[in-house]
Amino acid sequence: MTQKISICKTQNPKSRPDQKNLGFGQHFSDHMFIMDYSTEKGWHDPRIVPYGPLSMDPSTMVLHYGQAIFEGLKAYKSKDGKIYLFRPEMNMKRINNSNDRMSIPPIDVEFAVEALKALVSTDRDWIPTEPGTSLYIRPFIIATDPFLGVRASNTYKFMIILSPSGAYYPTGINPVKILIENEYVRAVRGGTGFAKTPANYAASLKAQDIAHEKGYVQVLWLDGVERKYIEEVGSMNVFFKIGDEVVTPSLDGSILPGITRDSCIQLLKKWGIKVTERKITVQELFDAHADGRLTEAFGTGTAAVISPIGELNWDGRVIEVNGGRIGEVSAKLYDAITGIQNGTVRDEFNWITEVK
Ligand SMILES: *Cc1c(COP(=O)(O)O)cnc(C)c1O
Repeated sequence: MTQKISICKTQNPKSRPDQKNLGFGQHFSDHMFIMDYSTEKGWHDPRIVPYGPLSMDPSTMVLHYGQAIFEGLKAYKSKDGKIYLFRPEMNMKRINNSNDRMSIPPIDVEFAVEALKALVSTDRDWIPTEPGTSLYIRPFIIATDPFLGVRASNTYKFMIILSPSGAYYPTGINPVKILIENEYVRAVRGGTGFAKTPANYAASLKAQDIAHEKGYVQVLWLDGVERKYIEEVGSMNVFFKIGDEVVTPSLDGSILPGITRDSCIQLLKKWGIKVTERKITVQELFDAHADGRLTEAFGTGTAAVISPIGELNWDGRVIEVNGGRIGEVSAKLYDAITGIQNGTVRDEFNWITEVK
């Protein structure tokens, strides 16, 4: 697809937010990318336009039936002012996996990466430069037919918006307390767990609220059938170091195939650390802890990169991991991935794409 992206620049550029107080997902840049889909024309009219509200018919299908997908990745500015994206083609390929599950027509992966680069380049001045900050990128697709009735929409919008974001760990990495969720489940095999689709997140809120009330930062999800096997932590993939092996749940349809997860597996293999994708029961975890073999636990995802787990509560049985401190492997993965992302560590895997 060699469509030309039209660019309409804003007449009213916004003032830049304070880089020391960005938070996450609160500020948005001057422009956004939009492309439309119709059955007759396919994906068409790619354009970069001033950031602003959408006008929608109240019957717009996405508002009622949730036919939508999204992605999340980041752009980083290196010390010498270069702009880097981390494995953007993986996000755009994952859009098509999510699209397929949600009956949304596929996008052209290469073109979507070009569109992303064009938008980031247009708003390059919005990429923060303070240590740990980045430009969070949110591509998403929504069903736009004005129609009530459960079927796939015939029209869609693919959009990309940009949000300058603060350091995830402004005061250093602190391991978090996690509640193992026994009642609610996030996803089941055959469902939509492997797709990045809004309904999965709406369905996770209740358990998250309860965990927060109990003083926990996130929940650890168990499988939807037996509530025995570990799946994910909040909206991150999860890893454990048991003995000299690093383990992570295998992808079986209910788990989101994270790009950070994949990057961690590749790095661990390169470092000669044994890493296994397999089923892990909570019981195994607690047994390994009792034997002193559970030495690290951490979540992985674009926002935090690595989020160490310091405490796990399973029905009132509480265990502390690594004395509540970040583990050696977790720290090494964090340094390697963030180093590659901001251009201070050599990119042996070709994960970095420069935006000119
Ligand atoms: C996005 C997401 C992840 C992490 O994926 P990354 O590509 O590493 O950011 C993990 N689990 C869920 C449920 C997610 O939505």
